[in-house]
Amino acid sequence: MLPVSTDSSTPVNSRIPTAGECDFGAWMLNWLVQAWERSMSGLSFVWLEITGKCQLECVHCYADSGPQGAHGTMATEDWVAVIGQVAALGARMVQFIGGEPTLHGALPDLVGHALGRGLEVEVFSNLVHVSEPLWEVFSQPRMRLATSYYADQADQHESITKRRGSYTRTKTNIIEAVRRSIPLRVGLIDLADGQRVEHARAELAALGVTEFGVDRLRQVGRGVRDLQPDVAQLCGHCARGKIAIATNGDVWPCVFSRWMPVGNVRHQSLAEIVIGPAMSDAEQQISAGVKRNPGSDPARPGCDPLCCPSTMCDPQCSPSCSPSCRPANNCRPTGNCAPNY
Ligand code: SF4
Repeated sequence: MLPVSTDSSTPVNSRIPTAGECDFGAWMLNWLVQAWERSMSGLSFVWLEITGKCQLECVHCYADSGPQGAHGTMATEDWVAVIGQVAALGARMVQFIGGEPTLHGALPDLVGHALGRGLEVEVFSNLVHVSEPLWEVFSQPRMRLATSYYADQADQHESITKRRGSYTRTKTNIIEAVRRSIPLRVGLIDLADGQRVEHARAELAALGVTEFGVDRLRQVGRGVRDLQPDVAQLCGHCARGKIAIATNGDVWPCVFSRWMPVGNVRHQSLAEIVIGPAMSDAEQQISAGVKRNPGSDPARPGCDPLCCPSTMCDPQCSPSCSPSCRPANNCRPTGNCAPNY
């Protein structure tokens, strides 16, 4: 399936060069072994960022999305082809995200295609508007929803989303998702002192939401305040079995690390990208950068236990985007995560 497995009958150790062999040979062998190891672990989860368009203009949006955003240069058939490659590489789950993925007219077909290829599917939506046909799409087996929430009061919520009425709309659709028993995760994004995050958490619990967590501001896109996007904004687990694909076909280690493309699916196969040297370099950069982060947890090298992508990428936790998840809150065995992403 993957181009590096040129001869699967040949043990890797039998190709170790002797001391007299050139450095290039050793470098190539090392690269092939790393590629082989990555190919063996494979992909588990892929973000499909199918649009930059959104009804909202959240002040922290790492994707810099809004009403002026576009679906980009990836045509629907490009996404269909990519989903096929994702499934062939062994991934278990994709997440459609944006922007607001429900604004992409091909979402129902793309979801159907992903489900048909045996993938689990999550749609990360602001839940501002969900049509009846889309509710039918979301009610299919192996479908989940995720959304973001900010406060239990409209004025505070909407001071972040920058759209009046968004609090009531999102809350109404959260209630509808719960009523329809559609698995739903809610990410509470804590952006400022005084934000009623705990009140929002209590409100969500009262609405019947069982899966939620809290994340901090990521200084990427419109989230930039006093820092620039760099690996300090990441958890260190990006690229390990996870990738994100942008509206122009660029592939990133995750949705936050959008300044470090590792390939483009319009010019290369996904298999070439995930085992390629750019991916390997990105992984090493991220890992080294996070290890320098004084907030890292020594028990989990390179990973801040409170950071959302880390828990998102934790095998015990479900994936999320603007997300959030403190292990104590929404990881199994406490019961709120899908297993083994
Ligand atoms: S954070 Fe999500 S809902 Fe808000 S503008 Fe960005 S894509 Fe839209």
